Amino acid sequence: MQSTAPKATTKTQNFWNPMAHPGDPASRNFIQIVKGDGNYVQTAAGDWLVDGVGGLWNVNVGHNRQEVKDAIRAQLDELEYFQIFDGCSHPRVHELADRLVEMTQPEGMTKAMFSSGGSDAVETALKIARQYWKAVGQSQRYKFISLKQGYHGVHFGGASVNGNTVFRTSYEPMLPGCIHIDTPWLYRNPWNCEDPEELGHLCAKQLEAEILFQGPDTVAAFIAEPVQGAGGVIVPPANYWPLVRQVCDKYGVLLIADEVVTGFGRSGSMFGVRGWGVKADIQCFAKGINSGYIPLGATLVNERISSAIEGCQSFTGAVMHGYTYSGHPVACAAALASLKIVEQENLPQNAAVQGELLKRKLEHALLDFPAVGEIRGKGLMIAIDLVANKETREPIDPTNGYANRLAAVTMREGAIVRPVGTKIILSPTLTLTETEVDKLTLALKIAFQEVKA
Ligand code: PMP
Repeated sequence: MQSTAPKATTKTQNFWNPMAHPGDPASRNFIQIVKGDGNYVQTAAGDWLVDGVGGLWNVNVGHNRQEVKDAIRAQLDELEYFQIFDGCSHPRVHELADRLVEMTQPEGMTKAMFSSGGSDAVETALKIARQYWKAVGQSQRYKFISLKQGYHGVHFGGASVNGNTVFRTSYEPMLPGCIHIDTPWLYRNPWNCEDPEELGHLCAKQLEAEILFQGPDTVAAFIAEPVQGAGGVIVPPANYWPLVRQVCDKYGVLLIADEVVTGFGRSGSMFGVRGWGVKADIQCFAKGINSGYIPLGATLVNERISSAIEGCQSFTGAVMHGYTYSGHPVACAAALASLKIVEQENLPQNAAVQGELLKRKLEHALLDFPAVGEIRGKGLMIAIDLVANKETREPIDPTNGYANRLAAVTMREGAIVRPVGTKIILSPTLTLTETEVDKLTLALKIAFQEVKA
């Protein structure tokens, strides 16, 4: 790794950070990242830090991978862009669609639709779910059920099914017919249920009760993340997804797995639902699809949906949805190169092994601190839950800046982690080694020793 940092540009104030108040001076104190290499990034001050956030849950193969950069360069030389509308295509979009269908064979996906990111992939899924029901003559099925802590991006559809109201209140009214039910969260749930199996049953029963309450013939789909990411890394019990699949099947409701974070290894298996042996009807992908080198999203559908839409004899079968950058050749080339690395280096397995190690080491180093309620995760998705009271599990006051102060000291000590309200979230590169596991653990330990809640 090069030790002299590329020159930082001046910190002009001419853009707004997403998910921050632009009037808050703290949000204008940018930390400029100027270079990346492997599991590390370099700040403008020249410090190399462990990338404990993997860019933003997405740099799965690590930074500065020659194979991905070569694929991008070669594609730019060959064809920088052409549309896939109007019956056109280009070689990379075929290759990537074939690759994704092949990779998702255990899940039974048959067709891919491309876009530019996770919010697009979710929007596509919601619209295709509605179109499916119209294509089969049940246009009254328009409602979506989702989970209270869920995160599905920022477009109007995705924000409407998002569980946390902070993503909705400034933009309401949202899409009609979006209903939120409880999350299968062992640490905090409305039943105070501490038994995973019982919790799985309670949550699946609630889904069934909600479908019945709404009227099964009005519900289009249930959408959830296999493991919730932004909501605080919530890992459902072993029986949850199979029970959810059963309930959906009983009432014909489509099951949408938002795999934007979990796709391509992050949760320790190639896809999140694979960890539960469940097949969704639609899977949404972005982030790890090409490790963030170029924006790309994909929405895959199974035979049930593809055959209904392809076989629809009316205009309703026409997919009047797609983006100028759907199937962008450079993004597809980056995906093909990145997915090759994911498979060749067996990164899902590395995520499982290093994730378990990181969780164990963090538990050993941090669980005795009074503010650490729980450390949970699956693969390389880990959350440290910050509490005001360990006994009652009452969360810390998210407005007092404790998580931010912890993250600042962790950064000073050589690692980037993500403060999100009452949690610290870790989602490092899937190429992580024990060296970085130890650096992350030590930096966080020093932060907890130094910063008082
Ligand atoms: N779905 C999930 C599960 C996500 O975590 C995210 C982003 N973190 C999105 C959708 C939206 O993706 P994007 O930010 O690329 O639009």
